[in-house]
Amino acid sequence: MSSWEANVRQVVPYTPGEQPQEQNIIKLNTNENPYPPAPAVQDMLKCLSPNALRKYPDPAAGKLVKALADRYDVGPEQIFVGVGSDDVLAMAFQTFFNSDLPVLFPDITYSFYDVWADAFRIPYQQIPLTDSFEIRAEDYRIPNGGIIFPNPNAPTGIALSKEAIRSILQANQDVVVIVDEAYVDFGAETVIPLTEEYDNLLVVQTYSKSRSMAGARIGFAIGSEKLISCLQAFKYSFNSYTMSDAAINLGAAALSDETYFQDTCRKIIETREDAKKRFAELGFSFGDSKANFIFVKHERVPAKMIFNALRERHIYVRYFDKPRIDNYLRITIGTREEMEALYAALEEILK
Ligand SMILES: *Cc1c(COP(=O)(O)O)cnc(C)c1O
Repeated sequence: MSSWEANVRQVVPYTPGEQPQEQNIIKLNTNENPYPPAPAVQDMLKCLSPNALRKYPDPAAGKLVKALADRYDVGPEQIFVGVGSDDVLAMAFQTFFNSDLPVLFPDITYSFYDVWADAFRIPYQQIPLTDSFEIRAEDYRIPNGGIIFPNPNAPTGIALSKEAIRSILQANQDVVVIVDEAYVDFGAETVIPLTEEYDNLLVVQTYSKSRSMAGARIGFAIGSEKLISCLQAFKYSFNSYTMSDAAINLGAAALSDETYFQDTCRKIIETREDAKKRFAELGFSFGDSKANFIFVKHERVPAKMIFNALRERHIYVRYFDKPRIDNYLRITIGTREEMEALYAALEEILK
């Protein structure tokens, strides 16, 4: 071993879902939206000029921040934007989680949280979900250096009520509490209004799922002016120009078509509710998902087997080889046609 290797930061990286390059696959493994971005985004794409690439973008992403402030009815000083919510969350971890006490998050949750905590050397404690994979608000009343959880949770899809989140906030006013609302638009209730009551609450959302723009890499956080100014200071201490001019313009354009957004979310919700009936008929059990995916377990056939058999048929879903969830599959809600193809394949496999 060369001696410089002793000074390398050892990390276990996050494993993203596969992005297969072959054509004609059904991709239900990374919770992308099956519908295209809003027509206003497609129009804006045509207006983008190569000349914008010559210059640095607006470091404050003012146009996007203003559009988000209008859409979510908060002040522009209450909004922070970044390159996907992963960027926003990673910055929030570094900005707010600097206690010697452990940061709390569920044992089954977005698998980037423990990766960031390890990478940034933040102590943490994973709080077990109940047997039915629910977050229990009472479990978050122990000394801690911060709290983070997704609502709805991933990969379970189960949502927590606003009142349960309020009780977590009520008991934890001395630390920053982050609610990761990556999937909130598919049927859970946002806690953005609670940022007015709790200046330690940071709500994080993304364009990657409900706005069909995972490729544009746009995420944002809403919180008190104080919290947001801390995030800004941290961001400007290492990279001022995080978002491209294209992302800023496309992100603002997406917000101009509320009807399209609502219609797309409604279609996915309808397909999900139908999927619950179909999965039940096929012998799967699952919690009550409020997200654009369902976390299912078959009563008879092991998840790993179903995963492989689907893959052979060019249908990709997500399998996590982890304690407590290694017999589950996380299946993204696709178009109706994609889902019909999935049910047909499952019927064959489970015969
Ligand atoms: C998808 C996802 C994110 C990150 O999405 P970005 O594409 O980086 O915006 C964050 N949290 C959860 C729980 C997610 O599922």
